[in-house]
Amino acid sequence: MGKKKILIVEDEQKIARFLQLELEYEGYEVEIASNGRDGFEKGKSPSVDLIILDLMLPALSGIEVCRRLRQTSNVPIIMLTAKDDISDKVTGLDIGADDYMTKPFAVEELLARIRVLLKRNNSRNKPEDILNIGDLTLSKSNYKVEYKGENIELTKKEFQLLEYLMRNKNIVLSREKILDKVWGYDFYGDTNIIDVYIRYIRSKIDQKYNINLIETVRGVGYIIRE
Ligand code: CA
Repeated sequence: MGKKKILIVEDEQKIARFLQLELEYEGYEVEIASNGRDGFEKGKSPSVDLIILDLMLPALSGIEVCRRLRQTSNVPIIMLTAKDDISDKVTGLDIGADDYMTKPFAVEELLARIRVLLKRNNSRNKPEDILNIGDLTLSKSNYKVEYKGENIELTKKEFQLLEYLMRNKNIVLSREKILDKVWGYDFYGDTNIIDVYIRYIRSKIDQKYNINLIETVRGVGYIIRE
């Protein structure tokens, strides 16, 4: 296994440089982005294993970077907050950051948290995290879906819906059940939303590759058959 790659998104050069030296000393490969937009672009790369994300950034705020990355990626994110701002932390954790550190912080503590997150992410790489239906592969730990090795870009919800259908292959799933399991408590509308998302997935998979992956069970819901 090669070096783990850590992306530092931080506009304060002194801090970024200091972190880079510390992390490289610990054996990590380091990349730096000095504004939010650059951070988002670099953070999308599957080669990044963990992101240290400052919240106060030019071009795109750290919160926004995190929100956008979480649409397609579950890469571990540690936020850096300049002050002890509770609302920033809550927002950050709500939108999917894994941890936060308040500046100034002890670098040993940051290193410890990085180790924990990388280890946690590693242990997710178990065989049951990979689902297969025919030529379609879904890898939960990498947030990746591939058809014959070709990457398919799905939003977070599309991914979750597809994962649920694949995990329950050969079972007819009612709209109500899908709504409950995939959308859960944070949903207020009706079950039509599922049809909308099924259409999105079909346009990205069924239609694109000319296969019949998701079947409609009239009046009930949907099924993926092996
Ligand atoms: Ca900053």
